[in-house]
Amino acid sequence: MFDDELSADERLLIEAARCFAQAYGPQDIAAWEAAGRIPHDVLMQAKRCGFLRTQVPTACGGHGYGYRCKMRMTEELAKFSMAAAFSIVNLQNAAAKLANDAHPNAAKALVPRMLAGERFGATALTEAHAGSDFSSIAMRAERSGDGWRLNGEKCWITNAAYADVFVCYAQTDTSAGWRGIACFLIDATRPGFTRTAPIDVFGGKAIGTGGFKLTDFHLPDEYLIHPAGEAFKYALGSINGARTYVAAMCCGMLDDALQTARTYLQERTAFGGPLLNRQGLRWTLADMATELEAARLLTYRAARLVEEGAKEAVLAAAHAKKYAARVAQSRLLDCIQLLGANGMRTDCRLGHHLACAKIAGYVDGSTEIQNERIAALLLD
Ligand SMILES: Cc1cc2nc3c(=O)[nH]c(=O)nc-3n(C[C@H](O)[C@H](O)[C@H](O)COP(=O)(O)OP(=O)(O)OC[C@H]3O[C@@H](n4cnc5c(N)ncnc54)[C@H](O)[C@@H]3O)c2cc1C
Repeated sequence: MFDDELSADERLLIEAARCFAQAYGPQDIAAWEAAGRIPHDVLMQAKRCGFLRTQVPTACGGHGYGYRCKMRMTEELAKFSMAAAFSIVNLQNAAAKLANDAHPNAAKALVPRMLAGERFGATALTEAHAGSDFSSIAMRAERSGDGWRLNGEKCWITNAAYADVFVCYAQTDTSAGWRGIACFLIDATRPGFTRTAPIDVFGGKAIGTGGFKLTDFHLPDEYLIHPAGEAFKYALGSINGARTYVAAMCCGMLDDALQTARTYLQERTAFGGPLLNRQGLRWTLADMATELEAARLLTYRAARLVEEGAKEAVLAAAHAKKYAARVAQSRLLDCIQLLGANGMRTDCRLGHHLACAKIAGYVDGSTEIQNERIAALLLD
C-alpha cells in the first residue's frame, strides 16, 4: 500500500534492497562482525544497487528520490542486518549533506567520488563526554588566517573504521553553548587527522563505529558547511528523518524475526505435533504481529510527515522510534526463546538483530531522549 504511492524507480530501488538483503546469509554477518565493518566488495555492491545515491539531488549525480524511499530501503536492508543498513544510509547521508549544503567547490570535489565508492562518509557529533547532550561538545574550532583550526576528538561514529569524509560539528565559542556550534567538512586525507581504535561492542560491530582525533587540523573557509548559530538547527532539522528510519529498521528486524520463528515452530515437532499448534506459542507470534503492525503504522506516518516537512514530524518520529526500538528489543528476545537453543546459534541472525535493536535504542537520540521530547511537547 505504502510503496504504491512511490514512483516506479523508487519501487525498483526498494526491490533492489530486498534482493540485497536476501543475497547474504548468517555466515556473511559473522564475517562482517569479525572484521568490524562492511567489506569493501559489499559496499561496491551497495553502490551498484544505487543505495549510496538514493536522496542525493540529481544535479549532483544522485537519484533524487524522496525520504519515504530511503526509509523503505533501510527497512528492507535491516531484515538482513541493521548494522549494514545503518552503515549504508550514513554513507548516503554524508554525500547528500555535502551535495545540498557544502560549498560548491567542496561538493564538486568530493560528492562524485563518494557516489563512485572511492570516498566514504560519516557524520560526527558524539564525543566521549557528550552524547545525549550534544550542545556540550568540546571539539574546538578557531579562526586561523582565512580558514579554521580544529582540535579535539570524536567517538562512537558509524563508519569511522574506514570513512575519510566527515560531516563534523565543533564548538567555536565555549561560552555560547549550542549557538557556538558550527559544522565542518573534514577531509581525513589532510594532515592533523588520526583515526582512533574502533570501539569493540558485543554485537552490531559491522556498523564500523570508531572515532578520530584532530590536532591543529587546518581547513579552508569553504569547508565550513554551517556557521555557528545555524549548525545546531540543521542537526536538529535532520534528526526526525534519522529517528524514523531507525524505527523502520526495527520493523525490518522484527519482520524477519517473526518469519524465522513462524517457520521454526511450523517445522519443529514436539510432543506429537508441530510446536505451532501450541496456543501459548501462537499467541506470542500473534502479539508480536500486532506490535509490528503498530510500529509500522507509527513509522510510516512519521515518514510521510518527514517527507512533507511538517512540524508534526518531531512528535511522530519520537513516538515511532521509541515504540519500534522497545518492541524490537522485547520481541526479539521472545523469538530467540521460541527457537529454543537454536536461537542462540551464531548462524541464526536473531542474536545480531538483538544487538542491533539495542543500538537502535541509542542512535539519533536514545529512548529516554524520545520520552523527553514527547513529554516536552505534551506539556507545551
Ligand atoms: C553503534 C552506535 C553507533 C553510533 N553512531 C553515531 C554516529 O554515527 N554519529 C554520532 O555522532 N554518534 C553516534 N552514536 C552515538 C549516539 O548518538 C549516542 O550513543 C547517543 O546520543 C547517546 O549518548 P551517550 O551514549 O553518550 O549516552 P549518555 O548521554 O551518556 O546517556 C546515558 C543514559 O542516560 C540517558 N539520558 C541522557 N540524558 C537524559 C535526560 N535528559 N533524561 C533522561 N535520560 C537521559 C540516556 O538515554 C542513556 O540511557 C552511535 C552510538 C552507537 C552505540
